[in-house]
Amino acid sequence: MSGPFPGGRRPVVQSKERKKSRENGGVVGVTERSDIREVAHWIRTSNYTAVLTGAGMSTESGIPDFRSAGGWWRQVDPRKVATVEALETDYPFFRDFYRARIEGLRACRPHRGHYLLAEWEAKGWVHAVATQNVDGFHLQAGSRTVYELHGSLHTFRCHDCGSPAEEPEFMEGRSCSRCGGRLRPNIVLFGELLPSDAWEGALAAIRWADLVLVIGTSLEVYPVSQLPSMAKGKLVFINLEPTAEDGMFDRVIRGKAGEVLAALDGELRAAEA
Ligand code: NAD
Ligand code: ZN
Repeated sequence: MSGPFPGGRRPVVQSKERKKSRENGGVVGVTERSDIREVAHWIRTSNYTAVLTGAGMSTESGIPDFRSAGGWWRQVDPRKVATVEALETDYPFFRDFYRARIEGLRACRPHRGHYLLAEWEAKGWVHAVATQNVDGFHLQAGSRTVYELHGSLHTFRCHDCGSPAEEPEFMEGRSCSRCGGRLRPNIVLFGELLPSDAWEGALAAIRWADLVLVIGTSLEVYPVSQLPSMAKGKLVFINLEPTAEDGMFDRVIRGKAGEVLAALDGELRAAEA
């Protein structure tokens, strides 16, 4: 691959050490109405808008992000289990963790924000959604051009021979029917390569876009954390808490993804009428 990663090597997923304390942690009130109006104007006048989402996009659906690790299964830090090392050194622990995550996902649904992004795509206001989320909610809500950069919890394969597998086989704790190997969801673990089609699609969309909306991500997981800096167009960040990367954006809208997207939709509709 050409571009920002020298030597043509595809980047491997890595997590930055989490900062222990952050200034202004917590909710910082919803943004100025004039910012919402301005960003809505950018959305209406953009020829190509790309969206990049992270775990914060799905917290309003009841799925915890990585920053609220205390809410996770058996208080396990998901960043330690979501690794090739965990899969290879303690497969039963890895499998039980993901079975619990998949069970938890079954009780959750996309929220209004996911549906609004799908509607905006149908109206020509959004052209591509790249996501770090593995919950499948953008597709479930009807978005069509979706790049699942970290894969999905909805499909499965054998870690050892690569053969496709079915969800019940994984959930029932069975081994690969071809080689007896370890079954796993098709997600990208820390230490693994991103799927090249999703990565290349997302990179092209973000470079091409004249507006990029980044929603609900701490921008701490490499290489996705590098994508906003590759945008040539305007950059907008919708996030609940401040991050170390806020300074690179043209506008930062502090708030919940679902609420901010609903406010933007209100402006877009008002301008349409
Ligand atoms: P992260 O947990 O590191 O950061 C989430 C960010 O979203 C935080 O900055 C937080 O302030 C913000 N946030 C939380 N709720 C929000 C809301 N309602 N509206 C707006 N912002 C909100 O998440 P990340 O950067 O995506 O990195 C986590 C990694 O974990 C990714 O690789 C992802 O694949 C994986 N993950 C996925 C899911 C999922 O599929 N739903 C859930 C947890 C983790
Ligand atoms: Zn196999």
